[in-house]
Amino acid sequence: MYRALYRKWRPKSFDDVISQPHITTTLKNQIKNEKTAHAYLFTGSRGTGKTTCARIFAKAVNCLSPKDGEPCLECEICRDAENGALSDIIEMDAASNNGVDDIRDLRENALYTPERCKYKIYIIDEVHMLSNQAFNALLKTLEEPPEFVKFILATTEIAKVPATILSRCQRYDFNRIRTEDIRDRLLYISQSEGVSLDEDAAQMIASIADGGMRDALSILDQCIAFSENITKDVVFDAAGIAGRDYLFDVLEAVYEKDIKRALNAVEEIHSKSKDLQRFCAELLEQMRNLMLIKAAPSEKELVKCLPDERERLAAISSKTSLEEIIAKLDVLKGCFEKLSYSPSKRIELETTLIKLCSGQARIIRQEVSEETPVNINNVKNPPKKEPPPQREEQVDFSKLRAEDFKPLKEWADVLEEFSKTSPAVSGTLQNSQAYVNGNVMLINAQNEFFLKLFKIKDNALALGEVVKTVTGKSYVIRARAPQAAQETPKEAGKLLERAKGSEIPVETN
Ligand SMILES: [Zn+2]
Repeated sequence: MYRALYRKWRPKSFDDVISQPHITTTLKNQIKNEKTAHAYLFTGSRGTGKTTCARIFAKAVNCLSPKDGEPCLECEICRDAENGALSDIIEMDAASNNGVDDIRDLRENALYTPERCKYKIYIIDEVHMLSNQAFNALLKTLEEPPEFVKFILATTEIAKVPATILSRCQRYDFNRIRTEDIRDRLLYISQSEGVSLDEDAAQMIASIADGGMRDALSILDQCIAFSENITKDVVFDAAGIAGRDYLFDVLEAVYEKDIKRALNAVEEIHSKSKDLQRFCAELLEQMRNLMLIKAAPSEKELVKCLPDERERLAAISSKTSLEEIIAKLDVLKGCFEKLSYSPSKRIELETTLIKLCSGQARIIRQEVSEETPVNINNVKNPPKKEPPPQREEQVDFSKLRAEDFKPLKEWADVLEEFSKTSPAVSGTLQNSQAYVNGNVMLINAQNEFFLKLFKIKDNALALGEVVKTVTGKSYVIRARAPQAAQETPKEAGKLLERAKGSEIPVETN
């Protein structure tokens, strides 16, 4: 009978466990020094090795000749534990045994001394699924456990475990397994199984598995069922996902505003019965990569993609702004959520792509944006007929520090002067504040309507004119309407944070 790879290759000792050295080292030391706790809580996402570590622990504390905190894997206890033939190691799935009666049974049973082992070990998986009553019953046992009993509780949702339980357990947080570690393990296993697996394909499986070894091995299983010669294409087919070329086709189409190309790609994916929601998830992932490349170009390891894809991403990112990427990301996220319940996934995806291509994402975002960056630099006496392109002086907002912004002393004078020529606009600046640092000015308005008026070029120019007249200086101005304006450096800090996030100033010409 074929045995699933993840069962066959499940680590048998702590040293085989990948990516969790902080946990395995501590557990080994405890076992070696006979300083184990009576209750543990293992938390982490699926496939990170929680149950595996619990089983190894159960073997190691009971092993007849443990080595350095590791089970020997040869004695009768180790062997029977491995075969699941040891009644003193009890595994319980709280997802299906979550009632108070289940835990009461467990409590009664726990009072009996172990049959063959030193310790009776209870491993309770998905412990967050227990009912409140069941948790209360469990708590009593955790408070006064028989000395020959140990508990290992495992959960993917730590937030749902009551604090009273947490406080009784030693807690261990399992990391997502690093993509490189999964890739290397896949290559090792496939080699041992006599299956040819391309490195690209291994990388691909690892990134789909998203930190979970069990998922990675399940996908490898599926691939083996397809072919003994596993390439990237086999992975795409086996995992029912769209090829990466479609992905980048769509991505490029979106940024080139090429609706036809985007829709053709969807048609292609759909006709091949690929999973559209998964495709959307992959698109999100690449959109995230774009965002990271734009926002933090030096943090290369944050970007998850294949080596040749990085160039395509960099090319797209160079043609767009961070603001636009984030706006599109928002729209796509909305689409992903709708896809899980939408009866017509294809229409949903197509509508979204049309929105993304037509730049509607951008427009929607600007309407709700509470901040309007405006450039009113060098505006004195602009020529009426042929205005030269007004270029904003380069301001590197990331280099500015909030504490360097000082309230503009002449702001009241500016407002008074401004009210003479633009009473309506200046009315919306009641109780506003302005902060300056070098040639940058941040306006903290009280009234959101000011932003709408400020978007109108003439108003922005008029204000810049007055500022220049009163202060004798030209400023690059950013404006925002928050809930309340306070004359504190903290407020300036918030404004600055927002200014940093906006790379594209609104054109005033
Ligand atoms: Zn042993």
